[in-house]
Amino acid sequence: MKIKRIAIVGGGTAGWLAANHLGLELYKDSEIEIIVFESADVPTIGVGEGTVPYIIKGLKRFGISEAELLVSCDATFKQGIKFINWLDSSVHRDNHYYHPFDPPYPEGFDIITTG
Ligand SMILES: Cc1cc2nc3c(=O)[nH]c(=O)nc-3n(C[C@H](O)[C@H](O)[C@H](O)COP(=O)(O)OP(=O)(O)OC[C@H]3O[C@@H](n4cnc5c(N)ncnc54)[C@H](O)[C@@H]3O)c2cc1C
Repeated sequence: MKIKRIAIVGGGTAGWLAANHLGLELYKDSEIEIIVFESADVPTIGVGEGTVPYIIKGLKRFGISEAELLVSCDATFKQGIKFINWLDSSVHRDNHYYHPFDPPYPEGFDIITTG
């Protein structure tokens, strides 16, 4: 029996990513319907702490504008994480450590540096 309806329960990160991935694979089949159920009462985790550069590749595949997403989510770019008091400064030069998001970045990724 052919599956004709796919229900995704939860309209958070996992739900909408699943919907986009499935939509991308199945959009040519007009018989298949994908429905995302969101709860008006239960909020998303929505911490929005960060993600990795590969999301750009996903957004491109889904046809979602990166600029539009950034504005809608009031997001910013993060190039790395600073771990304060992570190192012994008598041994190392600093007491902090930067963990950068290392290359290779996906095609089309522009590195933005700030002063
Ligand atoms: C402090 C913190 C920092 C994090 N930092 C990062 C990070 O840097 N990078 C990263 O990638 N991830 C990070 N995460 C993890 C990431 O935020 C979560 O893993 C992700 O958002 C979870 O997505 P989800 O779809 O499972 O849940 P959610 O986004 O919470 O979505 C769940 C959805 O289910 C719905 N729902 C619940 N019950 C029902 C119901 N009965 N009927 C219908 N709908 C329902 C809710 O309304 C919601 O829309 C972090 C998490 C935390 C807590």
